[in-house]
Amino acid sequence: MRVLVTGGAGFIGSNFVHHLLNVTDHSVLTLDALTYAGTTENLVDVMTNPRHEFVEGDIRDRELVDDLVEDADAIVNFAAESHVDRSIDSAEPFVTTNVQGTQTLLDAARNTNIERFVQISTDEVYGEVVDGKFHEDDPLNPRNPYAATKAGADLLARSYYTTYGLPVLITRSSNNYGPRQHPEKLVPKFITNAAHDEPLPVYGDGSNVREWTYVEDNCRAIELVCEKGEIGEIYNVGSGSELENIVVTRKIIDAVGASEDLIEFVKDRPGHDQRYALETEKIEALGWEPKWSFENGLQRTLDYYIER
Ligand code: NAD
Repeated sequence: MRVLVTGGAGFIGSNFVHHLLNVTDHSVLTLDALTYAGTTENLVDVMTNPRHEFVEGDIRDRELVDDLVEDADAIVNFAAESHVDRSIDSAEPFVTTNVQGTQTLLDAARNTNIERFVQISTDEVYGEVVDGKFHEDDPLNPRNPYAATKAGADLLARSYYTTYGLPVLITRSSNNYGPRQHPEKLVPKFITNAAHDEPLPVYGDGSNVREWTYVEDNCRAIELVCEKGEIGEIYNVGSGSELENIVVTRKIIDAVGASEDLIEFVKDRPGHDQRYALETEKIEALGWEPKWSFENGLQRTLDYYIER
């Protein structure tokens, strides 16, 4: 099988490219625009792999996308603007890449015999949940521009399944952490700051809760959905490791051996969702379960960043 992985030079995408090359015999074509968030350094050890090809390009480039999709048996669409704070500053690139870019890929796929189109969505499309956990059929209630554009792409992808019969599958995962993540995101930023004895800016009172999934667990889930998921279905991917941001911050400080005095509470993000949590029975029924505890995943992540 030839898999087109978009956004494969970013955090989750590059881990997924490594995963596919390591555990399957698929060939992989990575398409990435190399924005500030993507780098070929994330792919350095697979650049000469004969089963891997890298193309620098934009998912909004219709001609290029038509060309690449024609040769693919499956598409996994990770390409996105992914940082909530940046979407609050300027929503435009989020709308054009996350929504229009997804539409360009979907349209290209309609004209082929593609076997699978896996749209990578997020738990943020559900909005926040105070009690309980989100199921796949819960209504979407995105509350920041990033999440709204991801919900738009998610709904668009589903509409191509119901309207055109395109073999779409969707994953919605919780917060990922692990190697190769851009240092603007909480875990790598706090590891780096703590290691350099710089302040760790925690939003509000640090009580916001996220469910932390180690990236390798998510990559296994996406591969499983791509191979065995039921077409037209949505699969939540979460770890059950629910932690307040302040707890994550303290765990990072402990692991690095830094001082708690580095914690600096800063003005909260506007519309900051209090808690996300996912019900994962559906993906578990496919035979998946998370393998990484937060402590083990954090140690692996820490080793990666400290090495660099
Ligand atoms: P990332 O920002 O690290 O990577 C995104 C990649 O997409 C980058 O390599 C970037 O260069 C590329 N890209 C951006 N615009 C593009 C365009 N127009 N054309 C081609 N490539 C483009 O993001 P990530 O954290 O790896 O997230 C990957 C996907 O997973 C996203 O769709 C995101 O919404 C979703 N997701 C992420 C998380 C998380 O915790 N990181 C959780 C759930 C879902």
